[in-house]
Amino acid sequence: MNLQTPLTEAGRVYKMYAKRLEKLGISTMGDFLLHIPSRYDDFSLISSIDAVQPGEVVTIQGEVLEIKNEFTKRYKKLQRAKIQDKTGIIDVLWFNQMYLTSAMHAGDRISLSGRVEQQGRGLMLVSPTYEVLDATGKGIHTGRLVPIYPETAGISSKWLRKQAHMLLHDNREEIREYLPPEEVKQLGMYDYYHALSQVHFPDSLENAQKAKERLAFDEVFLIQLAAKQRRSAWQQKLKGKRFNVITFEKRVQEFFEKLPFTLTHAQKRAIEEIFDDVAKDQPMNRLLEGDVGSGKTIVGATAMYLAYLNGFQSMLMAPTQILAQQHFQTISQLLEPFGVRVGLQTGNSKSHITNPKSQIKSSGQKQKKNWKLDIGNLKFDILVGTHALLSEKVTLDRLGFVVIDEQQRFGVEQRAIIREKGNNPHLLTMTATPIPRTVALALYGDLDVSLLDEMPKGRLEIKTWLVPPQKRDGAYTWIEKQVKTGDQIFIVCPFIEESENMTTVKAATVEFERLKKTVFPHLKLAMLHGRMKAKEKDTILEGFRNKTYDVLVATPVVEVGIDIPSATVILIEAADRFGLSQLHQLRGRVGRGDKQSYCLLFTESRSPETAKRLKAMETMHNGAALAELDLHMRGAGELYGTLQHGTRWLKIASFSDFTLIEKAKQEAQKLFPKLSEYPLLMEKVKEVNIKQVNPD
Ligand code: ADP
Ligand code: MG
Repeated sequence: MNLQTPLTEAGRVYKMYAKRLEKLGISTMGDFLLHIPSRYDDFSLISSIDAVQPGEVVTIQGEVLEIKNEFTKRYKKLQRAKIQDKTGIIDVLWFNQMYLTSAMHAGDRISLSGRVEQQGRGLMLVSPTYEVLDATGKGIHTGRLVPIYPETAGISSKWLRKQAHMLLHDNREEIREYLPPEEVKQLGMYDYYHALSQVHFPDSLENAQKAKERLAFDEVFLIQLAAKQRRSAWQQKLKGKRFNVITFEKRVQEFFEKLPFTLTHAQKRAIEEIFDDVAKDQPMNRLLEGDVGSGKTIVGATAMYLAYLNGFQSMLMAPTQILAQQHFQTISQLLEPFGVRVGLQTGNSKSHITNPKSQIKSSGQKQKKNWKLDIGNLKFDILVGTHALLSEKVTLDRLGFVVIDEQQRFGVEQRAIIREKGNNPHLLTMTATPIPRTVALALYGDLDVSLLDEMPKGRLEIKTWLVPPQKRDGAYTWIEKQVKTGDQIFIVCPFIEESENMTTVKAATVEFERLKKTVFPHLKLAMLHGRMKAKEKDTILEGFRNKTYDVLVATPVVEVGIDIPSATVILIEAADRFGLSQLHQLRGRVGRGDKQSYCLLFTESRSPETAKRLKAMETMHNGAALAELDLHMRGAGELYGTLQHGTRWLKIASFSDFTLIEKAKQEAQKLFPKLSEYPLLMEKVKEVNIKQVNPD
């Protein structure tokens, strides 16, 4: 067994616990070492029995005189023991730990850590941590700073501690320094083994902190090296398709002039950055980051138009069918007048995006006709679609440009497939999930980033209220009044599970019926969920767009990208289940025109924390700032709520640790060109790359 051994092959016990351990991010033996304590119990004060004071947390070491079970009058089970050292005897009491009488026996040398309490005239140790000492007399659960880990059902810190201890001992040879020693020295950091052993079993809290710094550094550093490697492998393989920009500048200008609005400065800058990239030999790999409603689509469309002018085809991939459909419409409207032929390729109605393969197989009969057209087709200049675009059957001979919308919803793997598709097309990924720039850097390494940090002119702030439960009826009345003035309303059902499954759909249906029958009997309501057939969804969205309906009751599928400028009110149920970023996304469904828009948040939660978090929505209207706040209030893992796919979150380092991230970035930059000189480091980078491509 070595550190790479998967738990499933590491013996019966590990196999049995593998599922649970996965929740903690542990899937190989080595992962136990990277499961870092969240805090330490300080049991380092070792005291003789005659010196202990009431109220003190101490460790005492001595011999078991006796241990026995006792039953109280109310049938509670107690365990009582007497422990003796050279200076005296102390009573020990546990509750309901029947196994103790077989775990320790009279005559054993044991070590106990816990709080000393006054009991009548004597002192007593109550519910201490215990361990039987071996010949070395050194413990791991007592008599020191004892690590406490993030736990999960059935997996205790004590057990995790044992694993770490065993691996540090038995696999010591394997834990080798992989950074060049002179770098470690220059960075002033612990060497790798020392860092691991001090993070689990520190001699002092300062040491633990220093050890954690080294490991956090490693984590970010390796992610960045891996990203660099993927990127350079990609760029080396290929000669990109050099687009001619100058020749077509005039025609792009003409296209801009026909737009119903003028581009913002940020949009112009992003387009310039893209044009600079595509004029080069190497394929572009750029992330377009911009808040909801900042107008990313037009930037992507302009780039695809340039591709068309250069005689290349483009693909635009969106995470859901609804969104693909909408993009298809937008892009057709924008570009067909300029002679661009736009096609749509979606799978069936399921909006699962984690497994592209099954998605493709399940494409319905009806789609078949389109399939034929698309195979090796010359028919479209731009093909818009969902994951169905990933199918091998979809080939575009002259593919030169790929846009991936809402890229955080796709895994690295899916992005890799699409890149392979064309002969090294330029790649533009767009995200509406506002991520602080540092986070982006940490995640994507050397990806180039363009920022849309400016909203189109004339947008009004969306008035947002957290509505107390007793005002629910009032809110409904207000909504009815708004509809009378011509407003349209989104009502978002509670977020139940990550994928749109039957539970979600059922809950939405119940809510829909309730609203229709008892709340808004005089209004025209429609329902939308991810499980509907594509055609149905289209019809409903179309109906909402042309005002056949007043109210659209939807599952959280509306979160991503839907653009219906005439909708001005969004009511969100169970708002506490969403991250602030997600709420901001949802809120972004309204306020797209120049009319005043509103967002009403409902929650059943009574926690003051939750209220505080949701209240932030009332005053904050900047996506990045909200994401940052979420980061602080809920932790990085929640930044995307449950929307993360294929994104591995940092386990040790923290996204808010900008200095460390910067340091790791510089170091990665420095070592990358010499990577081949360090085989151990290369090995590590490979491991990280494998994990990134096959997340969890
Ligand atoms: P997102 O960045 O969220 O994807 P979209 O691209 O969907 O935003 O754009 C949101 C809305 O703003 C669309 O209706 C779009 O037509 C409009 N829009 C985009 N750019 C501008 C602009 N410069 N001025 C005014 N409206 C714009
Ligand atoms: Mg969008």
